[in-house]
Amino acid sequence: MEFTLTKEQKALKEKARIFAINEILPVARKYDESEEFPLDVIKKAHELGLLNLSIPKKYGGPDLGILDACLVVEEISSACPGIATSIFDNNLGAEPIILGGNEEQKQRILSQLIKDYKLIAFATSEPTMGSDVAGMKCRAEKDGEDYLLNGTKFWVTNGGFADYIIIFATIDPQLKHKGICAFIVPTDSEGVKLGKQIPKLGQRASNTVAVVLKNVRVKKENVLAKPGRGFVLAMQTFAHTRPAIGAFAIGCARSAMEYSIDYAKKREAFGRTLNNYQAIQFKIAEMYKDIEAARLLTYKAAWEADQGLDNNLSSSIAKAFASDVAMKVTMEAIQIFGGYGYLRTYPVEKLFRDAKLYQIYEGTSEIQRIIISRFAMKRYEHAMPSLFKRDRK
Ligand SMILES: Cc1cc2nc3c(=O)[nH]c(=O)nc-3n(C[C@H](O)[C@H](O)[C@H](O)COP(=O)(O)OP(=O)(O)OC[C@H]3O[C@@H](n4cnc5c(N)ncnc54)[C@H](O)[C@@H]3O)c2cc1C
Repeated sequence: MEFTLTKEQKALKEKARIFAINEILPVARKYDESEEFPLDVIKKAHELGLLNLSIPKKYGGPDLGILDACLVVEEISSACPGIATSIFDNNLGAEPIILGGNEEQKQRILSQLIKDYKLIAFATSEPTMGSDVAGMKCRAEKDGEDYLLNGTKFWVTNGGFADYIIIFATIDPQLKHKGICAFIVPTDSEGVKLGKQIPKLGQRASNTVAVVLKNVRVKKENVLAKPGRGFVLAMQTFAHTRPAIGAFAIGCARSAMEYSIDYAKKREAFGRTLNNYQAIQFKIAEMYKDIEAARLLTYKAAWEADQGLDNNLSSSIAKAFASDVAMKVTMEAIQIFGGYGYLRTYPVEKLFRDAKLYQIYEGTSEIQRIIISRFAMKRYEHAMPSLFKRDRK
């Protein structure tokens, strides 16, 4: 077992940290207030090779492993979770092509993302369903070798600015997961209508829109997954992208902890700075240990994916745990700041608002717990003999 990062990984983390401090931190509040999409920052990330992290070298990408990507994500998210979501949405959009695309699709789309700086989004969710992916209603109707798409996708991150969206749709909602297919849809296709930015609690620098599809023709070359294969592709994608949600949450929580330490060393109450009080010291200790545990779980989930192992369980554990840590740590950070924590003067109220999303997108915390409990109760092999089969002396 090896817990140290390689020289290359340390350098990558450092590069991402410098970018986060110089290019994101100074504009984080501005984008949160204006709810504008941080196109200039995303462009700079692209120029530095920090976008499209997992695209293979063959298509011009940096070909980073999922663990490497998590190192970058933690740094970027620690400066602004909303901008981080905007930057790394290309990873979510590209992953179904990396996992399920044919060679021609990979050559055509993945190399465009790198060479021509294109943005790609991902859409399973709809206004009437999010968790129940098999319950989607957006229709895909076969028309010769093409498909016609009709329906509405909702909550599409980066959707308002994306050049492509991976659209999941069904040939028949009654077929549930067996009917689901996936398509590469250029957003300038006839019949695609991109909605306006939906105002949000947090992560306001990320763009979230509805996408309406009216008789959108998808040519054969843009069919990514045939009926039945789409559901599996969506789940495989999540197993690869959920470790990064863990890393997002860790970055967010880490900054809330660091700000809390800074503040506790400065603020005086009853004649001493807050860091002298054990109640505050223990809050910091809780933050530190939880962040460390979340990071280890995230690294394990990422490492398993990089080894080609089934990381469905570990990625659910990492995402659920790290998201809860981000929520807890940001809430406690506000408590340490007292009244000032509640004001927009300091960044902890923003991190608190931003953190909430981790418990919701890419599978809610409840859905992760369903995956974990299903494993624990059905597949987990007990170490000890059954309670009811034990010989009693
Ligand atoms: C800002 C933002 C960005 C997003 N970006 C994207 C994107 O880019 N692409 C995309 O496809 N989607 C995106 N989503 C959608 C997101 O994945 C869904 O919101 C999420 O999966 C939950 O679905 P829902 O909102 O429909 O809630 P519902 O599924 O209606 O769930 C409501 C509540 O019930 C709980 N629940 C549901 N089913 C069960 C169950 N069986 N047992 C116990 N509890 C249950 C849920 O955990 C939740 O607490 C985004 C969402 C947000 C808020």
